[in-house]
Amino acid sequence: KQQSSYEYIQAVHKKIKERNLGQSEFLQATWEVFDSLKPVFEQHPEYVEQGILERISEPERFIEFRVTWEDDEGTVHVNRGYRVQFNSTLGPFKGGLRFHPTLTGSVVKFLGFEQIFKNALTGLPIGGGKGGSDFDPKGKSDREIMRFCQSFMTELSRHIGPDIDVPAGDIGVGKREIGYMFGQYKRLKNVSEAGVFTGKNPDNGGSLIRKEATGYGTVYFVEEMLKDQGHSFKDSRVIVSGSGNVSIYAMEKAIEFGATVVACSDSEGFVYDPDGIDVETVKQLKEVERKRIYHYLEHHPKAQYGNEKSDIWKIKCDIALPCATQNEIDRESAQAMVENLVKAVGEGANMPCTEEAIRVLTNNGVLFAPAKAANAGGVAVSAMEMSQNSMRYAWSSEEVDEKLLQVMTTIYKTCTDTAEQYGSPGNLIIGANIAGFKKIADAMVSHGLN
Ligand code: GLU
Repeated sequence: KQQSSYEYIQAVHKKIKERNLGQSEFLQATWEVFDSLKPVFEQHPEYVEQGILERISEPERFIEFRVTWEDDEGTVHVNRGYRVQFNSTLGPFKGGLRFHPTLTGSVVKFLGFEQIFKNALTGLPIGGGKGGSDFDPKGKSDREIMRFCQSFMTELSRHIGPDIDVPAGDIGVGKREIGYMFGQYKRLKNVSEAGVFTGKNPDNGGSLIRKEATGYGTVYFVEEMLKDQGHSFKDSRVIVSGSGNVSIYAMEKAIEFGATVVACSDSEGFVYDPDGIDVETVKQLKEVERKRIYHYLEHHPKAQYGNEKSDIWKIKCDIALPCATQNEIDRESAQAMVENLVKAVGEGANMPCTEEAIRVLTNNGVLFAPAKAANAGGVAVSAMEMSQNSMRYAWSSEEVDEKLLQVMTTIYKTCTDTAEQYGSPGNLIIGANIAGFKKIADAMVSHGLN
């Protein structure tokens, strides 16, 4: 019986649901991609014949392991470590490590799945992976962090390598943690393989601009999208959730482009500063003192603090950049944004908008830059870090920043061209999903069944 391509896609997703019962984040991420692919399957029967959709949704390898460590009082703790080696068609598995108490197998798999497409969009030779632990770094001493990282790496070191799988940071993992993990890898392997990790400290083989790359890249991408509609960051009001390295450098670049950033947040609440957020204060609090965002008020008494995180989306603005975590914008927040006449939303975090939120925004004409495309700058500069490590050479900040801008404008063009070619002009979600998918699918077909 003749099956339409949409029925085929639905049937495959049903199988994936049965195979991944209860993994809601993973199923959300897979469906978000699948839902865009109807026009592709109409034109490419070979993808059906080769089972690409089912193969691309099953990780090549999923590693789950015990991490035992001792706190400063001598109490023993057990956490769970993960690494999903999702797809290596285009290059070594590549993607960050997240340390957060809410991390589960489903979250790791959703992040790893997204990473495959994001990495493909960069045009650089990297496959998709992700990992991390349910370890909570908050409130831990420096030595506890070090012991945890060493224990985590004792197991992970068996599975990674510069041409196999190259981790980096994500939530809860910055250059300090990467330094401890990289140090442990060196001790265990007795080799100098700088390219096994990206996001390293620049004194230690890291690329300049890596720390800034995700935030800068998001603003570069959103600026391209705005320019196409005759808008820009200049003179606009911007909200950037989060206060980690994605958020901080998105704020910095938006301000450089002439915007006023009026609010940012952390996992406990948000600050609203009508004079414009002072990014240097946020950097000092978050990067140096590791303090909560409400301490911002001690430096800027005119600012206001709110402890209902989602209320940040009720503040009036022109451009919203969710740069905190998954599903931080739900239907209600999206509705508030539509009422406030928000012009554009750019996803700096991974999957920060729920499916319903995306529907509300796009149905109401809000310009939407999806994460896979908009936040690909981080991993793009990670790939550049791998190149520099292979050459045993380092590019200047200007060189890396220029390459980053080039990558982001190319991704924007790829997304718009693809959306147009497949009958949905201006829809960057469809453009990003189809362009990323086609690149991997064609390579998978060329490699034969595996
Ligand atoms: N964690 C980042 C992301 O979500 C960066 C990954 C990397 O640099 O490998 O893309």
